[in-house]
Amino acid sequence: MAQSRIRAAYQPIVTLTPPRTMVGEEALVRLVTTEGAVIPAGAFIAAAHTAGLVPALDEVVLTETLARCVAWTGPPRLYFINVSTALLTAPDRLDALIRAVVPGGRCRTDDPYLRSVVFEITERELLSDLAAVRKALNPLLDAGVRLALDDFGSGYSSFLYLADLPVSFLKIEQALIRRLGRDRRVTVMVAAVTRMAADLGITVIAEGIESARVAREVRALGIPWGQGYYFGRPGWG
Ligand code: C2E
Ligand code: MG
Ligand code: MG
Repeated sequence: MAQSRIRAAYQPIVTLTPPRTMVGEEALVRLVTTEGAVIPAGAFIAAAHTAGLVPALDEVVLTETLARCVAWTGPPRLYFINVSTALLTAPDRLDALIRAVVPGGRCRTDDPYLRSVVFEITERELLSDLAAVRKALNPLLDAGVRLALDDFGSGYSSFLYLADLPVSFLKIEQALIRRLGRDRRVTVMVAAVTRMAADLGITVIAEGIESARVAREVRALGIPWGQGYYFGRPGWG
């Protein structure tokens, strides 16, 4: 019987200074219906959360992405994977995840700046116990996985995360990025966050860049990396 299926689409993450190079890609879960329609995560992830299905989706995406990472033979790339804190704090799931990731050590490269696997963390439900999340993450961090704080500035991703978790990347919320250069308050805020991140040794990624104008604004603030439809849409390629 034909069934809808879950798979990951991949969106490029690029350097903003020339020559523009692809440094990584983000895995984004998609539902492909029996008719071949592709439903983006944004259309079903909230319902999946309510139904408790997100850890299962995360596992599919993680497995697929690690296989992609291992198969990749080109220049080093980072693989950004969204993981729910529900997955990170469920011990049985986490065990499976660690088993999946540790062999993924093969896809790490020699370049210390470009180790491969990055987990993106955000919080769409309640602020959970950060100490527990931190503890759960330790074996993964020891295995070389790094962390990105997703949607920073959205209210789903707070300074407390930054204070308590060893974050390597900060992804600034697209709703803020879109207002750069047109809204002075937002521009000042994003500039300050960028400086703070630099002081903390954290790489900033601007999300949701849709135009050359916004790409220029982002670059003018010294944000090193970007992602958005302007550079490439999520796809199967
Ligand atoms: P996110 O992680 O912040 O991902 C960025 C979202 O913005 C994606 O939507 C992406 O397709 C979209 N996007 C990228 N560039 C642009 C742009 O230039 N303009 C606009 N308007 N949108 C852009 P998507 O794939 O629908 O995902 C929505 C959210 O669902 C994600 O936000 C993430 O929080 C969550 N999600 C996606 N995949 C997974 C997954 O495998 N596991 C978990 N737990 N959550 C996921
Ligand atoms: Mg993300
Ligand atoms: Mg985001």
